[in-house]
Amino acid sequence: MPKLPDGSEAGLKGHFAEDYSLRTREGLAPRAGHIDRNAPYKRIATEEAWTFPALVKAQLDYLQSGEAPGDDSLRMAGLFARMKGLQDMLQDLGDLRLSHMDEFGIDRQLLLLTAPGVQVVRPGEGTPLSREANDIAADACRRHPDRFSALAAFDPRDVTGSVREIERAMTDLKLNGAVLNSHFQGRYIDEREYWPILEALEAHDAPLYIHPTAPFNAPHYETRGFFGALGGFPHDVWLHTMGLIFSGAFDRFPRLKLVIGHLGECMPLHLYRFDWMQGNADNRAGLRGGQEPVKLQHPVSHYFHHNIWITTSGVGWEPAIKFCMEVMGPERVLYAMDYPYQQSSDEVAVYDRLRITPEEKKMLMEDNARALFRLPGGR
Ligand code: MN
Repeated sequence: MPKLPDGSEAGLKGHFAEDYSLRTREGLAPRAGHIDRNAPYKRIATEEAWTFPALVKAQLDYLQSGEAPGDDSLRMAGLFARMKGLQDMLQDLGDLRLSHMDEFGIDRQLLLLTAPGVQVVRPGEGTPLSREANDIAADACRRHPDRFSALAAFDPRDVTGSVREIERAMTDLKLNGAVLNSHFQGRYIDEREYWPILEALEAHDAPLYIHPTAPFNAPHYETRGFFGALGGFPHDVWLHTMGLIFSGAFDRFPRLKLVIGHLGECMPLHLYRFDWMQGNADNRAGLRGGQEPVKLQHPVSHYFHHNIWITTSGVGWEPAIKFCMEVMGPERVLYAMDYPYQQSSDEVAVYDRLRITPEEKKMLMEDNARALFRLPGGR
């Protein structure tokens, strides 16, 4: 068992409930609720996390080698590796996961290689690990075709390897899109050198899910306990998404599809202000290291209505979901649970109780996911 920097051993601590108890107060999210077992829709959860031992080992080896850059995202991998109960759930693509899905009434999970993924390991190891990840995910989908679908992992630091792996994952493995765990050592896919990856995603009609990770070199978050969902996660994906929009990537690749979790990481709430303040960055000289100014073809909100879909992961909260459906359009909001990081029967029950039309409910829980990720019929 690998040693962690503090001298303890990875993977030997207690159970999930003890080592990963996120919920300490009731607040707005009560713990238990009644799930409708005869709901007139399937529940397709679209941001469900997994990992595998070789990747966890590669992350820990690099973290402990002293050769890695000071990356809070890699340190987060070390933190997750110590949580035995969490790892048991993340690493299972069979009976344990299926039993939890049955318990919570989830018909199908869309599997995403969990943050920080392959993009924090030693350079050169990421692409081989992404191939291994995608083979494992594809095998799970073959074994349980009515329960699992999956997005492809790739290591954006290796542009050529990423393009090849996305092509293989979409054509040979029949995966349903790709996942990027936000920044990679402080780099973002909006930078021009990574655009061949965007081109490949568009060519294969592969939606790109940008999932959060801890911000790069961010002691100002870390010291306050905010590297995750309380700040670092949404802020980093916000930066990534706005970077893509203002880079002109969606004007260059107008059929590129982007998926953002956690109710669009709060961005839908700001569409009005984004349009108002667009001139702060649109067609401005001197940005991005002095490259030619980029003039967008549309208002910022246009891209949220043509290129971007959002999921509800971790925010089973009626007023927020309804607001997002109103401003994004009901066809752009998809259900997600964020297993195993957030799971409760009440959160599922919230969706059953949502006061929206039956048609909109079925779109949210099932139909939008099937259409966007081209999922098979049945469960
Ligand atoms: Mn997640």
